[in-house]
Amino acid sequence: MRTQIIQINEQNINQELINQAGDIIKSGGLVAFPTETVYGLGGDALSPESSKKIYAAKGRPSDNPLIVHICRMEDLAHIVREIPEAAYKLAKAFWPGPLTMIFNKSELVPYETTGGLDTVAVRFPSHPVARAFIEASGGYVAAPSANISGRPSPTLAKYVTEDMNGRIDMILDGGDVEIGLESTIIDMTAEEPMILRPGYITREMLEDILSSVDEDSTIMNDDSKQAPKAPGMKYRHYAPKAELTIVDGKADSVVDYINGELCRLKQEGHKTGVIAANDTIARYKADICKNIGNRNDEKAIARELYRILREFDDEKTTVIYSEAFDASGVGQAVMNRLLKAAGHKIIYLK
Ligand code: AMP
Ligand code: MG
Repeated sequence: MRTQIIQINEQNINQELINQAGDIIKSGGLVAFPTETVYGLGGDALSPESSKKIYAAKGRPSDNPLIVHICRMEDLAHIVREIPEAAYKLAKAFWPGPLTMIFNKSELVPYETTGGLDTVAVRFPSHPVARAFIEASGGYVAAPSANISGRPSPTLAKYVTEDMNGRIDMILDGGDVEIGLESTIIDMTAEEPMILRPGYITREMLEDILSSVDEDSTIMNDDSKQAPKAPGMKYRHYAPKAELTIVDGKADSVVDYINGELCRLKQEGHKTGVIAANDTIARYKADICKNIGNRNDEKAIARELYRILREFDDEKTTVIYSEAFDASGVGQAVMNRLLKAAGHKIIYLK
């Protein structure tokens, strides 16, 4: 299959090109598109065949449900059984934006889209290209992240091309994404709304609106006896090809420990990498050191993380050490993804 790659300027959207992309979705094809979180791989959410194609293009296990993207609040009622009052409140505060809510699904949504579940995940993105594209596609676009399953989510169109060229019909290249980590997921079918995946919309922000929300206990802890409530979170996701270890502790101890390990690993013939903040980066002796930014700016760190993990793959790094970052606010999402990328390998120094 030939994949068309099309540049779209979000300041000046070419409607003709967007309509072409929409027509592909309406006729059962797949189009990757930019959102404010990461690039998505879109297909018609109401077509079982389109959803099957998405799983095939990504190599994604079919029990890992897709998120349905909408572009108008009034469309929500068609795909869900009921909209709890709390969901209206969250939608008013955070839609359009990087929040995914889970509802009981209506009959319109096929089980192929929900991975066999009776619930459906819905998001209303804010990215102008995403919104125009969803509208041109008929209003309901199922879209997971546009990467091969298990690889870091793409934050640039070139990474979508790397993974999806020849597998899908079109890629809409809208430049860099703004946030860099996938949406926050909250289950609105639980007695108390429960966060299943942390993201840019933090627990504090949700609690400002709903007073109290719950959190899936597997978000930060590796409890292999307990299955995460978002089926996709059980997979070793977001992973670079190299073995990644996180080291947590006081700055001097972390630098000394990692440099000691790097020295040994280099002798063993490894190509070594380090991920560190800008105040410590110059002190590391790895083959490749990546500055993830200011450790007090979690939003900037979130934007850099997946690009850095992908660059290490391209550079054929075989082992990576990363500093740990503060897990409050958006930092919780950063540490959640970093822990997954490391398969929860973390060393705590005194
Ligand atoms: P991705 O689209 O790659 O960001 O992955 C979508 C995430 O949403 C996965 O972790 C899924 O398990 C989760 N998800 C989608 N639908 C549901 C649902 N109905 N219930 C729980 N989690 C869901
Ligand atoms: Mg994904």
